[in-house]
Amino acid sequence: MGRNRSIHPNIWSDEAFVALSFDARLALLTLGTLCDSRDRFTSTTPGFDAVRHDLPQLIGAGRVEWDGSAGEVVYAFGFSRRRVSRWERIRQFIFDRDGRACTYCGAVDEPLHCDHVVPASRGGSNEPSNLTTACKPCNLSKNDRTPAEWLNSQTR
Ligand SMILES: [Zn+2]
Repeated sequence: MGRNRSIHPNIWSDEAFVALSFDARLALLTLGTLCDSRDRFTSTTPGFDAVRHDLPQLIGAGRVEWDGSAGEVVYAFGFSRRRVSRWERIRQFIFDRDGRACTYCGAVDEPLHCDHVVPASRGGSNEPSNLTTACKPCNLSKNDRTPAEWLNSQTR
């Protein structure tokens, strides 16, 4: 224990995960929280009895692998080893807030960037009030300008 693990943010939109029973989802989250740095969880890990019943369904769904040759070792998938950075959490918050559409042109089918309305290079903060969702073309075009400067440059 003592490791800080993060549930992969995409897990809630993962159809295979959502299709699992409630108990199986709970079991998988338990596995993800308690397994070691190599995603391993064994029959001696505290909490094993609570998830044992759900292992067949998790194995069937491909979320867990049972390695009998190594003793009762279970590998749980769908959990990120790297910690989700604070910036990544802010980005996802901004994208959700803005409906995953570019604030400037409304595009939803372009790669999304998190744009500093007042550019960071000019003192703009990382606060949500200064961040907005921009598609890649808009963000690259706007570059280190304010929206007003950017607009002016386009209408000239
Ligand atoms: Zn755009």
